[in-house]
Amino acid sequence: MKQLIACCGLDCESCEARIATINNDNNLREEVARKWRVMNNAPQITAETINCTGCRTEGVKFGYCNMCEIRSCATGKGFQTCGQCKEMDTCSTVGAILEHVPEAKSNLN
Ligand code: SF4
Ligand code: SF4
Repeated sequence: MKQLIACCGLDCESCEARIATINNDNNLREEVARKWRVMNNAPQITAETINCTGCRTEGVKFGYCNMCEIRSCATGKGFQTCGQCKEMDTCSTVGAILEHVPEAKSNLN
C-alpha cells in the first residue's frame, strides 16, 4: 500500500493541500482554502490552515484530517488503512467517502 494513500483510501499525493505544502505555494493555499470553504461550508478555513504532508506520513496535518474519525478508528485498531478492516464493506464511517469517491475504494482494495 502506497504511503500516500490515506486511511480512508483518498490519494494524498494528488491532494492540492499537500502540493501547496510541499511547494510552500501560498497562491495555491489561497485557492484550496477558497474551494474548501465553499465545499465544506467552513468559513474558518483560511490559507494559513492549509498545511498537510499526508494522512499517514510524518509531519503536519490539515486540522480536519488530523481529527478525522476514520483515521482515528483505523489507527486505533492498529490498521494502516480501512482496507485491512473486515468491516469496510458495511462501515458507515468510511462508507461516506467510499460512496462518493469510487477511486478510494479501489485504492483500499
Ligand atoms: S490528509 Fe492531508 S494530504 Fe491527505 S487528503 Fe487530508 S489534507 Fe489532503
Ligand atoms: S470500522 Fe470503519 S472506519 Fe474503522 S477501520 Fe474499519 S472500515 Fe475503517
